[in-house]
Amino acid sequence: MKDISTPTVKLLAYTPHPQMIVATAMRQSRLRGGVSEVHLAEEDIERLIKLALTLKHFSVFEHASFTFAVEGISRACSHQLVRHRFFSFTQQSQRFVKVDEFPFIIPPSISKNSDTLEIFLNTIEVIKGAYSTLSKAVPIEDARFILPNATETKIVATANSRELMHFFKLRLDESAQWEIRTLAHLMFNEVHKVAPLIFNEENLKLYE
Ligand SMILES: Cc1cc2nc3c(=O)[nH]c(=O)nc-3n(C[C@H](O)[C@H](O)[C@H](O)COP(=O)(O)OP(=O)(O)OC[C@H]3O[C@@H](n4cnc5c(N)ncnc54)[C@H](O)[C@@H]3O)c2cc1C
Repeated sequence: MKDISTPTVKLLAYTPHPQMIVATAMRQSRLRGGVSEVHLAEEDIERLIKLALTLKHFSVFEHASFTFAVEGISRACSHQLVRHRFFSFTQQSQRFVKVDEFPFIIPPSISKNSDTLEIFLNTIEVIKGAYSTLSKAVPIEDARFILPNATETKIVATANSRELMHFFKLRLDESAQWEIRTLAHLMFNEVHKVAPLIFNEENLKLYE
């Protein structure tokens, strides 16, 4: 059994010059000519991104996409993540990948108390044994039916910056569950590094 306490997020790829692309799209909406020869200065990019948000011209944010490798989240969390319909996802298969090390996520509310932790770990141990026995007798696609929500999963997720802002708005909020909130924080930190003029707290307030 392997307890995983924090998810990991790596930004695998993103649209080159995402801020410039978004700002250029915004520029096109106000320009008589085309933007193929337009070169925007840093301050123009910042101004155009702010203008798009202020005018709620959110579609310009669809021109920049970001792809993340996410590891160390529970199946409970991934179920919440995949509800976001404008993401594209590819998740590790429980039909084809046998759960060997039995990695799982323990909610902090359970791990901080020795009694609840003992119940949790004992139950995981029982499930692990049952899964191991079943997976020798039936296809693993059927043995997986007894795996818990705590089971760790890995997923590749791609979304454009409009959908990401929507996701951050919902999932950074205190009403979101702790695990997906942690995940959203890590994803936000990744995109903030490469596109701070799009992904910053002030802009999120302007996004609805
Ligand atoms: C705190 C919290 C609690 C939740 N609790 C539950 C729960 O108890 N049960 C449950 O089932 N879900 C629950 N959810 C999930 C929630 O209902 C959404 O499915 C999820 O947050 C994805 O949000 P979304 O639909 O806005 O986003 P996306 O799927 O990312 O869509 C983005 C936006 O596109 C538009 N859109 C997309 N598809 C359509 C459509 N078909 N028609 C019209 N507009 C569309 C909407 O404006 C939407 O906001 C919860 C979410 C949160 C944040």
